[in-house]
Amino acid sequence: MSSDQTFVIVGASHAGGRAAQSLRMAGFEGKVALIGEESYLPYERPPLSKQLLMSPDGIERAELNPQSYYDENDITLMLGCRAERIDRHARTVHCADGKDIEYDRLMLTTGARVRTLPVPGADLPGVHYLRDFNDTLAIRGRLEAGDRTVVIGGGFIGLEAAAGARKYDCDVTVIEAADRLMGRAVAPEIGEWYADLHRSHGVDLRLGTGVEAIEGDGKAERVKLAGGDTVDADLVIVGIGIQPNAEIAADAGLEVDNGIVVDLFGRTSDPAIFAAGDVCNQPNDFLGTRVRLESYQNAQDQGMTVARNMMAAPHDGTGDGEDDSGGLTAYIDRLWVWTDQYDVNLQMVGMPRDYERLVWRGAPEDGTFTLFYMKGPRIAAVNAVNNGKEMRIAERMMYADRDFDDAQLADTETQLRQVMKG
Ligand SMILES: Cc1cc2nc3c(=O)[nH]c(=O)nc-3n(C[C@H](O)[C@H](O)[C@H](O)COP(=O)(O)OP(=O)(O)OC[C@H]3O[C@@H](n4cnc5c(N)ncnc54)[C@H](O)[C@@H]3O)c2cc1C
Repeated sequence: MSSDQTFVIVGASHAGGRAAQSLRMAGFEGKVALIGEESYLPYERPPLSKQLLMSPDGIERAELNPQSYYDENDITLMLGCRAERIDRHARTVHCADGKDIEYDRLMLTTGARVRTLPVPGADLPGVHYLRDFNDTLAIRGRLEAGDRTVVIGGGFIGLEAAAGARKYDCDVTVIEAADRLMGRAVAPEIGEWYADLHRSHGVDLRLGTGVEAIEGDGKAERVKLAGGDTVDADLVIVGIGIQPNAEIAADAGLEVDNGIVVDLFGRTSDPAIFAAGDVCNQPNDFLGTRVRLESYQNAQDQGMTVARNMMAAPHDGTGDGEDDSGGLTAYIDRLWVWTDQYDVNLQMVGMPRDYERLVWRGAPEDGTFTLFYMKGPRIAAVNAVNNGKEMRIAERMMYADRDFDDAQLADTETQLRQVMKG
């Protein structure tokens, strides 16, 4: 790879930061520029709703690398800089500050932004979202004992925020439109287990409840529910999902469909442009379908693999339909995510879609168990509650091309390692 090449990465967060690192680790000697709209060094987001919400710590705790790393590795950081447009013909990225940055290869790791609540009053002061470190600072600056915190959305982010607010002794109400918690991510039975957990920590859960408006005199003071009831609020935290920042790709004529469409190697419909992380819609062999993932591990692993593919891809890639993937590494995400709420760690692998029955290993009432989602004799997904030690082997079992027996999976007297050896 010639050292007069310039690789530009737009989106300086987890996927982008790891991609830049991966280029240098793989020996790329050309120029690397990392363009990011936020003013912070690339950082991980999971602590935003966990450790950083519950402590006065600064962003250093979540940074991928310190400033010295970028200096020593000659990675040009363009922070506080929004990329506005890609000119694919000229191979430039036009930035909001007027600069045009030339590239030989471009990687888009623009991630996602929060979905906003489409009701009157959603823009009142006191209504917060949780996606970046500034959001964490704003929320934690408002969490005071006895204050009424209303969380809208019973997914991971909303529930982690609810647990954080309880840690500050706030009065917490969670409003969720669906009739269960974490509905997209786990079986109803796990949602119920988490509903009990939150109730046992004093959270008022309102399931199956829509929000009609946020009301107040110059600031959020109450949330009006569908049906007319109201819940008083000093602070409202909204966690109702995210949407990919794919407009810059769509405007440049790249294929976009619920995110930037990439192939197994992270290539977009332009052979000079790649994408990774929350922004992209990628094939997944295990699921047998395309998927847009929103996970730490995907951002990291895909960012790193696709960066190496940027280096290895043939330079005169014509995009003429010929298979020119020799030397590239296929990326298939392992579909692993986790959430921490109170002192409970839940790890998940696979997707709880399309399963036929659940096999419980351990008793839910004991607070430590593993749950297998079965389709015929195959494991389709696994959840481990406070049982991370079983996760690695359970994951291998899920990906093993073989059948398992329900009774053996459920038998806590037999180690999963033994069941795997079968
Ligand atoms: C509060 C929170 C908690 C989480 N907890 C977990 C967890 O426990 N487990 C887990 O697996 N996952 C978790 N996640 C998800 C995980 O953090 C994300 O999947 C991951 O951050 C995705 O990384 P990314 O780099 O693809 O995108 P992002 O993190 O969204 O980063 C994209 C970056 O690109 C920038 N950008 C966008 N457009 C432009 C542009 N035009 N020009 C310049 N810059 C641009 C953005 O400002 C942003 O900095 C959590 C996420 C949040 C928000």
